[in-house]
Formats: sequence, C-alpha cells, structure tokens
Amino acid sequence: MTAKAPITQDVMTLPRKLPQEGKVNLVAMTRDQMREALIAMGTTERQAKMRVGQIWQWIYQWGVRDFAEMTNLSKAYRADLDAAFVIEIPEMVSRQVSEDGTRKYLVRIAGGHEVEVVYIPEEGRGTLCVSSQVGCTLTCSFCHTGTQKLVRNLTAGEIVGQIMMARDDLGEWPKPGEPKDETRLLSNIVLMGMGEPLYNFANVRDAMKIAMDGEGISLSRRRITLSTSGVVPEIARTAREIGCLLAVSFHATTDEVRDKLVPINKRWNIETLLDALREYPKASNSERITFEYVMLEGVNDSDEDARRLVKLIEGIPAKINLIPFNEWPGAPYKRSSNNRIHAFADIIYKAGYASPIRTPRGEDIMAACGQLKSASERERKSRRQIEAESGLG
Ligand code: SAH
Ligand code: SF4
Repeated sequence: MTAKAPITQDVMTLPRKLPQEGKVNLVAMTRDQMREALIAMGTTERQAKMRVGQIWQWIYQWGVRDFAEMTNLSKAYRADLDAAFVIEIPEMVSRQVSEDGTRKYLVRIAGGHEVEVVYIPEEGRGTLCVSSQVGCTLTCSFCHTGTQKLVRNLTAGEIVGQIMMARDDLGEWPKPGEPKDETRLLSNIVLMGMGEPLYNFANVRDAMKIAMDGEGISLSRRRITLSTSGVVPEIARTAREIGCLLAVSFHATTDEVRDKLVPINKRWNIETLLDALREYPKASNSERITFEYVMLEGVNDSDEDARRLVKLIEGIPAKINLIPFNEWPGAPYKRSSNNRIHAFADIIYKAGYASPIRTPRGEDIMAACGQLKSASERERKSRRQIEAESGLG
C-alpha cells in the first residue's frame, strides 16, 4: 500500500455557521436540511415542503442569489429569509479560454484554497469537469493532481457551486418567467477534475442529487459520469445512492503495472475491481461502464495489453476511452505515438467494444485530463516521494 493510507472522510454537509452566529448558506442543503432550517426560522411544518420547492427553483433553475427577487414569496417572508440565510457559491478567481474554446476556471473556496474546473464545449453539448477535493490522497504516477497533497474535501456546496459558477459565466440562467431553454450550454457533468470523488462520497452524492433533481439543476442522471480510480467498497453504493454513470481509471492490464500507475490497486486489485464492476447494477448496454486508459509509451500500450484488456472486461457492458497522456512539467512518462494508439484502439474495436480516443482539450491552458493542480498550493509532494509511493524509484 502507499505510504499514506487513503482516508474515507464522509462528512455530511452541514450549514457552515449556526444561525445565531450569522447567516447560513442555503446552497447544497438537502431538501430535508432546508426544510428543517426553514422550520427553525418559523415556517410552519405544513408550508415548509412547498417553500423548499420554491426556493430550490429560484436558486437552481433561475440562478437567483437575492431573496428580494423571489417574487412568489411574500415580502415579509423574503425579509425573514434574508435575515437568516445567504445564497453563496465559491468565487471565481480567474478564467482562461483555450484556442479550442475550453474554459478553465480557478475557483477559490473557504480557507483560501483553490480548485480548477473545466468547461468543454462540443457540438450540441457542453461538459463541465468538476473537482471533488483539493489535491488527492492517491498518487497515481502519471497524474499531476496526484503530486499535490490532499488539502481537504470539498463541501457539497462547493461542488454544486462549481456548476452554478459555470452557468453564471456562460450566461445560461433563464430569465424568471421565461420558458426554460432546452438546449443547454452546460448539459453534462463529469466528476473527473481534482480528487477522488469516492473518498468524498456524501458530499459528492448530495451535490449530484441537486444536479439531477427536477427542481434543482435538472440534468438527467445519464448526463453525469463519476470517475473513480477504483475505490471498490463505494462502487455499489454509487449505483444505489447516486445512480449516475461510472467511469473507472483502469490504465493497465496486469497488477504489476497497475500497482505502479494506480497505487490503490495494491489495496483493491484488478480482479476485485472487475468483480465490483460486474455487479454494478446500473450497467447495461445503454449505460455502459467507461474504462479510462491512459496511453503511456512503452508502459501499457502494447498489442498484448490491448488483447489482455479485452479478455479482462469480457461480460461487462463497457466502452474503452483511450486518453493520450497529457504531459506536465516533470512527468515521468511520454505519450504513446498516434500510430500506437490507433493500433491499440483497433484491437479493442475489432473485439466489439467502442474505443474512442479522447481528443485532448485545452492543452494550451493546462486544462486537459490530469493536468489540473492548484498552482498556489505550496505543499507539494517531492518527486522522490511520488516515485517512492508509486514504486517507480
Ligand atoms: N480521481 C478520479 C477522477 C479524476 S482523474 C480518477 O482517478 O478516476 C480523471 C481522469 O484523467 C482519470 O482517468 C485519470 O486517470 C486521467 N488522468 C490523470 N492524469 C492524466 C494525464 N496526465 N494524462 C491523461 N489522463 C490523465
Ligand atoms: Fe487522484 Fe485520480 Fe489523479 Fe489518481 S488519477 S492521483 S485518483 S486525481
């Protein structure tokens, strides 16, 4: 196992401040939490449920941050809300726009920490790549985020707040009273930013519940994909409690190589991971599991690897997403050649699996997969530490 044991911090999102100390943030409260908060403020039990629905719509469908604009509530009620609560999302510190239209945001969260969020526009859709932790406890040897120590888990508010911030920037909130626009700039979410989402399960779940809620952000669960490095005990729970699509950072076809690339493999090896995926109750032909596979020259990219991969995943409704390695300063690997990637893809395709090659997006602004890292974070793992932890040294 790695020198540092992964933590399973599973803290419910609670209001950051107590009402008597100051105002409580309503963003990302679950429906039950908000109901209780409204009752504590004096709303009758009979009315509380309806008020939650109304306030959710204002916050998540219309993007309203000021209670005064919630015109279907009485003036007196709006004033009570304003005295007790705020609607607050993380602050955007900077935005870089790539030549290909990809936008990378640097977002500041409580405590002065920073995370990166990436928006990728595509034909007919747009995907937001959301972060779940500042840094990561894991140390995948090809990943830039893995060189940054875990600073903390994001709260549910900070996770759903990334989506709201992007909609602010895209100017995507409909005007109250106008019909909702069905063609969305931000139509899909991938939990593929910084951090391991399954080591921050409760907060990720609560945030995604709001993203999927018809009175919330209102995205279909099929438009949300959670990527995990393979936290096996949380995989079944993901299907049960979130119900989104699943992607797995697979990256190798033998335990020997995967131990080095994705060190969590030393705790849950390939066979254990595949068993969990075979049982993923949501998997079906229409909801296949995505196997992410980073192409590293001379490490995991041979024809033999491709054939082994096909054999390993037999029986699992799957597609294989080949990711050309994105380089970062000091990275110990090289990207496989285009010819190699295509030869690898071909073997998988001929075995009957979709094998799209992910086009790197936003490379000029370091926004591509695995390049994210908070530039301002001082606490870095040393090169030697990474090599020791990954067994590369
Ligand atoms: N922690 C989660 C989600 C974030 S990483 C996970 O590991 O699945 C999102 C994807 O980018 C993962 O498949 C990850 O393995 C991949 N990735 C990380 N570093 C990369 C790099 N330098 N080049 C290409 N892909 C990378
Ligand atoms: Fe963490 Fe995922 Fe990067 Fe591995 S690939 S270090 S789990 S963010």
